[in-house]
Amino acid sequence: MPRIDPEVMDWIAQAVPGVRELVPYQPGKPLEELERELGVRGALKLASNENPLGASPAAVDAVHQAVTGLAEYPDGDSFRLRHALAARHGVDPSAVTVGNGSNDVLDLIARAFLGPGREAVFSEYAFAVYPIVTRAVGATARVTKALDPDAGQPYGHDLEAMAGQITSETRVVFIANPNNPTGTWVDTAAVRRFLDALPGEVLCVVDEAYFEYVEDPDYPDTTQWLACYPNLVVTRTFSKVYGLARLRVGYGLSDPAVAELLNRVRQPFNVNGLAQAAALAALDDVEHVKKSVEFNSLGLGRLGSDLRERGIGFVPSVANFLCVDIGREAGPVYEGLLREGVIVRPLVAYGLPRFLRVTIGTADQNRQVVAALDQVLGL
Ligand SMILES: *Cc1c(COP(=O)(O)O)cnc(C)c1O
Repeated sequence: MPRIDPEVMDWIAQAVPGVRELVPYQPGKPLEELERELGVRGALKLASNENPLGASPAAVDAVHQAVTGLAEYPDGDSFRLRHALAARHGVDPSAVTVGNGSNDVLDLIARAFLGPGREAVFSEYAFAVYPIVTRAVGATARVTKALDPDAGQPYGHDLEAMAGQITSETRVVFIANPNNPTGTWVDTAAVRRFLDALPGEVLCVVDEAYFEYVEDPDYPDTTQWLACYPNLVVTRTFSKVYGLARLRVGYGLSDPAVAELLNRVRQPFNVNGLAQAAALAALDDVEHVKKSVEFNSLGLGRLGSDLRERGIGFVPSVANFLCVDIGREAGPVYEGLLREGVIVRPLVAYGLPRFLRVTIGTADQNRQVVAALDQVLGL
C-alpha cells in the first residue's frame, strides 16, 4: 500500500471544481455554543428567523404520536402531506415536491437542471443557498448587481438587471421574494413582466419562504400562476411562520413534468416521519399562523420605530426580520451583543459588513435587543 503523507495531500485540489471555491453556509450561532464559548447563560437568539411563538400545539401533538413509529421508515412518497399541500394550493399532487427543508428542494433543482457549462442567475445579497447549490454542481453563478442603497427596495433584487444576465446557457433563475437577508421584495407587476420575458426553457424559482408574513396587496402569490408558466417553480417552507425549523420540511410547486425530474434525484426518505406528521397538523392550524403574523407585524413596527428613534438605519422589511445598518463595521457590535446575551446575524458573508440581521421576537425579546443595542452602542 502506498503511504500518503497527510501533510502533503492536497484534498482541495482533489475536490470537484465547484466545491473548491465554496464557503460553507454559516448558520446563526446556537445558544449552546454561546454558553460554551463565552459562558453566557439564558441568552436570546434572534438570528435564524424562527417563529418566536414556536410550533402549533397541534403539530407538537402530532410529533408525540408519530414518535411511537420511530423504528419504521417514513412514507417515502409523503402521500398525505403532498395531497394536503396540493389541496391547499389547488394543484395536482403530482405538482408537489417535498424537501428536507425548502433548501433541499433548491438543491434538487440545481442537481436536476444545472451542471458544468450551465448558468444560474440570482441577485447580489440574495439568499446564501443559491450560490452553494449552483457551484456545488459545477454550474456558473451569474450574480447581478442589487438595487442601490437609496432605491425604494434598498439592496433588493433588480429584476431588469437579472433578465439582462440571461444567456443561452441559463437554466435557472432564483428570486427570493421576500429576500433574506435584506427583507426586500418584488411586486406583482415586476414578477409578471419578468416571467413574460423569460425564455421558456429557463426555470424561474420563486422562493417564498416568508410568504405568509407579507401583507402588501402588491405582493404576488405566484402559486396562482403555475398553470400559466410551466417554467415556474415556487418554494415554500414550514421552517418560518409554521415554526417547524428543527424538523426540516419544505416543498416546491411546479409543472408535474418538472416535479417528476426533481423526484428522480430526491433521496428516498428525504422528509422524515415526524416532519410529515407535524407539517400536516401545522397546515390545518390556521389560527396559529394568523396569530404569528399579527405578532410579527406588531414587532416589526415596534422594532422599526425603536431603531428610528435612535437614529439607527435599516432596510424596510416585509418579512420576520430587519436588516439593521450599524453605520460602521458591524462585527464588534455583533460581538458586544453576544456578551449582552443576544445572538443576531452578522452579514459579512453576504457582502454587507455594516449590517446585522435581527429576527423579530416577542415584545419582550424585541425590548431586550433594543436594550442590548443601547448598551453596546453607548446610546
Ligand atoms: C429560511 C429560508 C428558507 C427555508 O429554509 P428551509 O430549508 O425550508 O428551512 C428558504 N429560503 C429563504 C430565503 C430563507 O430565508
